[in-house]
Amino acid sequence: MSKAIPTNGTVYWLDEAMAGIDEQACPPLAGHINADVCIVGGGYLGLWTAIEILERSPDTSVVLLEAEGCGFGASGRNGGWMTGWHDGLDAIIAEYGLDDALWLAERSAWAIDRVADFSKEYGIDCRLRRYGATKVAVTPVQVGKWKSAMQACRDHGRGDFYNEVGAEDVRRRTGSPLPLQGAVQTDGATIQPAMLARGLRRAALQLGAQIFEGTPMIGLDRGTPPQVQTMGGAVTANQVVLATGAWIAGLPELRRAVVPVGSSIVATEPLGDRLLGREFARGDAFGDQRLSVHYMQVTTDGRLIFGRGGGKIGRAGRIHPSLLHDAPAWSSIVEDLHRWFPDLADARITHAWTGPVDRAQSPLPFVGSFGDNGNIHYAGGFSGNGVGPAAYLGRVLGKVALGVDDEDARSPLTGGPRAYLPPEPFRYFGGTLVRASVEYVEEMQDNGHLLNGRINKTLRKLIGITTPRHLEPRLRKATSDKAKGTARV
Ligand SMILES: Cc1cc2nc3c(=O)[nH]c(=O)nc-3n(C[C@H](O)[C@H](O)[C@H](O)COP(=O)(O)OP(=O)(O)OC[C@H]3O[C@@H](n4cnc5c(N)ncnc54)[C@H](O)[C@@H]3O)c2cc1C
Repeated sequence: MSKAIPTNGTVYWLDEAMAGIDEQACPPLAGHINADVCIVGGGYLGLWTAIEILERSPDTSVVLLEAEGCGFGASGRNGGWMTGWHDGLDAIIAEYGLDDALWLAERSAWAIDRVADFSKEYGIDCRLRRYGATKVAVTPVQVGKWKSAMQACRDHGRGDFYNEVGAEDVRRRTGSPLPLQGAVQTDGATIQPAMLARGLRRAALQLGAQIFEGTPMIGLDRGTPPQVQTMGGAVTANQVVLATGAWIAGLPELRRAVVPVGSSIVATEPLGDRLLGREFARGDAFGDQRLSVHYMQVTTDGRLIFGRGGGKIGRAGRIHPSLLHDAPAWSSIVEDLHRWFPDLADARITHAWTGPVDRAQSPLPFVGSFGDNGNIHYAGGFSGNGVGPAAYLGRVLGKVALGVDDEDARSPLTGGPRAYLPPEPFRYFGGTLVRASVEYVEEMQDNGHLLNGRINKTLRKLIGITTPRHLEPRLRKATSDKAKGTARV
């Protein structure tokens, strides 16, 4: 058995990214300043938005406020999978229609190239490795979950993006006895997430962004012009962009559009020769087809990074401390790791951490605007797939903030959330019930019981009842009236 799991919650990626680098934190904002654009949030989305604006319009004054340090949120602590949207093409067609769906899937593939090209241009060593992303079935119930999306790819000339892989192949590649069969997204890649976030921060500074760290937005005046308030001052800007990841659920306008959900990861010590013969150690993204998905990659120094989604839920849009530090989840994830890799059960766990995911009901994230003149813009709802897509959403937000009128600025993702979740307390208690049911059913399935998850599906249907966008205007008006003027966020 492995020894004790560290309990301090140190994020391996951030530790590695900051080691040996003499990089000062940007000072907190002190005083009142003006800017063309004020971006709130220093994760991928906020940083890509700043980069987009400054590359396109170098004279624009861009201020970025980050509550902690850039990369503190999901961007510095994720699993490092970089994937597009072709694995959900069937659902995306159902939601957005064929033409828009194909266009959006193409943009998600573009985003992966954008990360690769930009990192090269700006010397960002984010350890990008492009060997695809493979999700395998580890129980009979999971076999073939990919069929419908794969068929949609084939039907629409995208067959190359999504292929089936046989049992022997996936077992050989991982050395795990579990995989039964799988599907690979061929344009998928892995990265070192915090090195990407910190690299984007350096690039944004180089391009002329003014970044203030340790500077949480504590109030937002939605008037004209809008004003972002902080502990030590305020920024009055023509345009405000809210890029606060799962924290965006704290905003009255979006409280019912996004629910924060924890996701936790453990990292082993470097495994050296024990990885020999496991082809995925070259840098494939690997995972399973569970709802509480297991995701993994092997780092360039040979550590196994092993995570699981579907953690605790943030009540009333708040990021509870357990969404950043969930020690009970870490122990159970280590048990899952041992089930996946029994021969690595004695490997030491050196790091364990948690982060908040901004889960929405629609298959893709959304972009929207509010405020007196519609000059406060936001994006969210990545639902655990934001590493690649944030580059595209940053492009959309950047263009929207600059007033560019083109197909990105008019993307089908604009217009705000596509569905609203039930109000509290139903959202929290309902969500917690579904989560417990998913956990129970998937654990039983993992242990060889042939539960088909019908109860689970029925519960999700009952509790996941959403209000579609077209039925929501009255509700949205009520929340935005409440939020008018200066409001705490
Ligand atoms: C554990 C985990 C694993 C994941 N794995 C993957 C994966 O493998 N592949 C993938 O594609 N996606 C993954 N995701 C999702 C992905 O990381 C996110 O979708 C992406 O990083 C979102 O970036 P963001 O900029 O929107 O949010 P964040 O990176 O969370 O950035 C938001 C920033 O806003 C700041 N902030 C919050 N409130 C305020 C405020 N009031 N004032 C100022 N600043 C504020 C926060 O400190 C934070 O730095 C994972 C997420 C988690 C948590």
